[in-house]
Amino acid sequence: MFSIYLLRTIQYGAQMDLAQRSSRLGSWHFNALTRRTVWSAQEYRCLGFEPGGCVPGLEAFFAALHPEDRPLFEAQRQALMAGERNDMDLFLRVIHPDGSEHIVHERAMVTRDPRGKVLNISGTTQDVTERKQQEEKLRLSARLMDSSQEAMVITDPRGKILDVNPAFSEITGYRREEVIGGNPRLWKSQHHDADFYQSLWAALGADGYWRGEIWNRRKDGDAFPSWQTISAVHDDQGHTTHYVSVFSDISSLVQTREQLAYQAYHDPLTGLPNRLLFNDRLTHALTRAERDGGQVAVLFLDLDRFKHVNDSLGHPAGDALLRAVAQRLSQSGRKEDTVSRIGGDEFIMLMEELRDPQDAAHLADKLLRVLAEPHVIQGHDLYVSSSIGISLYPRDGGSAEVLVRNADTAMYQAKSAGRKTYSFYTQDLTVKATERLQIESDLRRALEQRELTVYYQPQVDLEKGRFIGAEALVRWNHPVLGFLPPDRFIPVAEDTGLIIELGEQVLREACLQARRWLEAGIELETVGVNVAGPQLQRSDFVSTVRRVLAETGLPAKHLDLEVTETFIMEHADVTFDQLHELRALGVTLSIDDFGTGYSSLAYLKRLPIDRLKLDRAFIKDLPDDEEDAAITRAVVALSGSLGLRLVVEGVETAEQMAFLKNMGCREIQGYYFGRPVPAADFIWRAGLD
Ligand code: C2E
Ligand code: MG
Ligand code: MG
Repeated sequence: MFSIYLLRTIQYGAQMDLAQRSSRLGSWHFNALTRRTVWSAQEYRCLGFEPGGCVPGLEAFFAALHPEDRPLFEAQRQALMAGERNDMDLFLRVIHPDGSEHIVHERAMVTRDPRGKVLNISGTTQDVTERKQQEEKLRLSARLMDSSQEAMVITDPRGKILDVNPAFSEITGYRREEVIGGNPRLWKSQHHDADFYQSLWAALGADGYWRGEIWNRRKDGDAFPSWQTISAVHDDQGHTTHYVSVFSDISSLVQTREQLAYQAYHDPLTGLPNRLLFNDRLTHALTRAERDGGQVAVLFLDLDRFKHVNDSLGHPAGDALLRAVAQRLSQSGRKEDTVSRIGGDEFIMLMEELRDPQDAAHLADKLLRVLAEPHVIQGHDLYVSSSIGISLYPRDGGSAEVLVRNADTAMYQAKSAGRKTYSFYTQDLTVKATERLQIESDLRRALEQRELTVYYQPQVDLEKGRFIGAEALVRWNHPVLGFLPPDRFIPVAEDTGLIIELGEQVLREACLQARRWLEAGIELETVGVNVAGPQLQRSDFVSTVRRVLAETGLPAKHLDLEVTETFIMEHADVTFDQLHELRALGVTLSIDDFGTGYSSLAYLKRLPIDRLKLDRAFIKDLPDDEEDAAITRAVVALSGSLGLRLVVEGVETAEQMAFLKNMGCREIQGYYFGRPVPAADFIWRAGLD
């Protein structure tokens, strides 16, 4: 019985120790009567001893205490003994023999006899080092969060906001209470697309954190750039328990960065792109042009005698002038052209997607005019002229460097040509371009003043053995450039739209002349009038023809309109109906320059046309050239089988005539029978011999 009790007691003691050990809680008891102290095994351990490794009691306890904490403990102990208090509850530091410092939570309670004399004191000593450290850490974290300049947001794994710090409110304008329980989507900006957030979450999943620049939105709606780190917090099992996001507002940083980038690429005086940016754009333009087979122009512009302005009016005036020039230049080009100041009074311009070198000449001409207008600077009317050099990709160079250098060279040519002018790097282009510009402006005047005249070239029917018609060919006796063939001004007229007016003048003149011939009893079948593409593209062309016929009194059947093969085939869709309407008026239609374009035979068959005019290119080398002979023969056969008449143009010699006649050609036009001449010199021949 006794032994069972003892055994139970021992067992109980062992279990008790296990409990004390796991809670790191030791217990002790002091009997005032016997003055003996008992410690539990864990009590020894808490104080750094082996269980039973010392005499339990105040002395051993005192020795284990951190010297600095001894007075505190002693004061409380004495108060207890003196009856001033009945319990004790304090945290003390204990030094273990290995030198490590532990924090213990010391609690005690006194039992007294009725007179107040101490009977027993019982207490516990708990090692709370870990908990205290944890608490300390938390306290520090909280301090850190509160005092941080960076916004901090803690969410649960599903993104629900658990806490934010004061800096967060400071930066975003949201109060803590407004966001807790919410979702960070609240301050998402519209700056990033779905892909951006997707890759952010992917990185978070894979690496446990994401860091980068992200645009957020303040409560007042303003978006701002922030530098943000988002980290996943994991528990011991590796599950995500929280996300912590830390960010700072980097608006001013971004602003400075942008400002720096802007400064690096722009001229501070005028705000125009500088040489660096210009080269960049030019290089890109060249890459594109190479890929698409396009053309690019570089215009190098230098103000004439700018130094004079600086010297006489001072630098501030010079600066103001440069700014004014920059502004005019920027406003003169197309939106996509780049204007750049590359130093002093030198500007450079990039034109992309050039259709024609003429486009560059046009711009240069415009710039010269625009800059020549007076600039009002500090109350003075300042006149500056400039010189422009132009280089073209690909003909004048393949790289940015070469193009700029050649434009520069061309600019010097322009200066030495007397300033206020432009010059292409390649000289013959300059000549052509200036001439074309002159033709353009003069043509306008020529049309107003009716300087153009119409010449007529006879058309012959070999079978009938007489003249049957005449082609009207326009002529211009230019006051400076002299007698100009239509090839020199018709393309300009087409580009500028002047062809509409020109075409109508020729049409009217030819119709009038035809009527006069008819009235004079001449057996004229048709007068041929050339019609240019832009005329046909106008929806009112049919009514123009109807009106001119009515006004001149020429019966429609005497008018033959010539349209080039190239135009008809390239604009099949627009011309088809138009040609039908013209035919419905009663005029006849011819396809001019036949053989130089690419006719679709199927389309040709459906067209409402009467004649083909075989281009003189195929006649020139007849009868010797076998290939031309073969083509001519084929066209004769083709017109026959399509039921079309055929006129052969450019017949100059008797051999050609005989050869063509032999081949079965019936209608002929060419110098052999007559050159184009003014109506007054035109002699109708009723027979051919
Ligand atoms: P096109 O309509 O093919 O006119 C025939 C051209 O060949 C004329 O040149 C004529 O002078 C030339 N020619 C005729 N016979 C001979 C020959 O035996 N030998 C040589 N070497 N040439 C000959 P032109 O007058 O210089 O006209 C050139 C082109 O200008 C015309 O070609 C026509 O496309 C256009 N053109 C002329 N007048 C007008 C017009 O009033 N309006 C429009 N839109 N175009 C016109
Ligand atoms: Mg013609
Ligand atoms: Mg022709």
